[in-house]
Amino acid sequence: MMRVDRDSLRFSMSACFALAYLFSPGLFAEIRVDSSSQVFYKNATAMLGRMKDSPDPEIRKLYQEVSRASVTVHIRPITDDSRTWHVDGDRTRAHTEALDNLGRGRARNRPTSAAIYLTTESVDPTRTSWKGGVLPHEMTHAMDLASGRYNKDYKIRERRAIVFQNIWRARVNKTLREDYHGSFDTLDYQNAKRAGTLGKLTEHIFSSSDLPSSRDSNDEGDDDDGDEE
Ligand SMILES: [Zn+2]
Repeated sequence: MMRVDRDSLRFSMSACFALAYLFSPGLFAEIRVDSSSQVFYKNATAMLGRMKDSPDPEIRKLYQEVSRASVTVHIRPITDDSRTWHVDGDRTRAHTEALDNLGRGRARNRPTSAAIYLTTESVDPTRTSWKGGVLPHEMTHAMDLASGRYNKDYKIRERRAIVFQNIWRARVNKTLREDYHGSFDTLDYQNAKRAGTLGKLTEHIFSSSDLPSSRDSNDEGDDDDGDEE
């Protein structure tokens, strides 16, 4: 008799958890990988696993921040459908879009669901392009949206993303990114590494929407070693 009671109690508790899950989707948000292409699903999931178990604590934390957000982050392949392409029409270019009705590039200060669009090649573990760190780069944009720390200045957003992209690249001996498509410098990782302040830099990114060096200067390129928050 006791056994039956215990089992039914256990069943009731499971049912409660199941109901809680069904009725509070925001509480159990997730990273949702598009499964319409088996190859993309497999590759993207494998690369997410690589972030989750990364030897770099900053990459692991980036993964955790996105997976524990109160909103959902979708990861989708770039396909023949032009709606999956970057706005500039380049279908080889990864990008992250906010899933709301505000204009593209507007600041967000509340948690916003996001969709990351990637080429299948950029997450293919059998090729070398995954070493470029496109996924951690886009995951930073997704984290900024999902946490409501999405800066209105795209230069700040890109520099934040390239910090994590360069942590990834350093790990796999890939040349570090020093600029954003030739238009501005992205040396925040390199400068922090040299100054021994990488932990401080990433903690800043995990807790605010800007960069330590953007607080008291609008000058993008010249990081001053003496900068304090
Ligand atoms: Zn970017």
